[in-house]
Amino acid sequence: MADIGTLKKVARISKVTGFTRLCYFFNRNRKRIIAYHNVIPDKFFDDSLHLSHSMKESSFKAQIEMMRKRFKVSTDIEDVKSITLTFDDGYLNQYEIASKAMDRYNMKGYFFCVEDLISKGNPILMDMLQYWVSYVEEGAYRLEELNITLELRDEESRKLQWNKISDLLNSGVTQEKVEEEFEKVYSFKAIKGPKEKFLKLRFATIPKSSLKVMKEKGHYIGAHSASHKRLSLMNEEQLKEDIEICKKARENILNTNVFAYPYGSKEDISPTVIELIAKSGFTEAFAYSNGPLKGEFQYNKYFMPRMFLADTSDKDLIDFTLSGAKHFMAFRKLLPKWN
Ligand SMILES: [Zn+2]
Repeated sequence: MADIGTLKKVARISKVTGFTRLCYFFNRNRKRIIAYHNVIPDKFFDDSLHLSHSMKESSFKAQIEMMRKRFKVSTDIEDVKSITLTFDDGYLNQYEIASKAMDRYNMKGYFFCVEDLISKGNPILMDMLQYWVSYVEEGAYRLEELNITLELRDEESRKLQWNKISDLLNSGVTQEKVEEEFEKVYSFKAIKGPKEKFLKLRFATIPKSSLKVMKEKGHYIGAHSASHKRLSLMNEEQLKEDIEICKKARENILNTNVFAYPYGSKEDISPTVIELIAKSGFTEAFAYSNGPLKGEFQYNKYFMPRMFLADTSDKDLIDFTLSGAKHFMAFRKLLPKWN
């Protein structure tokens, strides 16, 4: 949709005309499940590429403050009157910033962790590449075997050049190959990033001891795959191996049978993926999408819709999204149902 300035104006009009209130009413029995990624302290937050799915701490706090006024906040997925908060990936900021902010209000959420991150400390490749593109020295980089040249200067150019890498990752080349090529051109270790504290919050895992604290507070820790690869692009053997690792993690680290697909749009899963997830004892799975689906594929308990909030503390805009008014303006439909 439009940029945030325009959205704020539209949200304001929606509020004063009563449209937002009307949408709250018509969507009163539609479940809201919110998908968050990283929540970063304002003082560290900048415009860099690797924060494009992240949110400022002040925005997050404003949003949960409003949610608790408007809804019951609950981890009960069946309770359509309540709102459920979920977080993907398992980086340290989700414990340090997000879960602690929620604890102050006794709110509980789902935190979906990538096994390679929590057990081995390996950041997700996508994040490593974004880190590389965000902070590598200015210059033109030729990645011979991937047949791309990256011209990296200011933040804007880095964002634009990122599209080349996204296309590449969608083209079927293996993640290992991509990582190797980037490493060859400029070593990840040689990159001078920002302050260490920020890097840790953004790229380090939640330690097991902290996951334990979260579970004691009533949060759910769930699986988000072992490798954070696109499950639909894996062959059956790789897929089985990945899901088996998640299944094992349920015995010690995880405390819920709910799963969240990496990437999570319709293209990132397949009937085989769903079948294996269900067979492995996962009882529900979250998508990363809430727009209308074309064709036969519909939302169901193994593809539950999740909605997203922009990085904003603007009350009208938060209401505009939570009420379903934004969704209605985009799709002429109420928020999706799946039962
Ligand atoms: Zn993810």
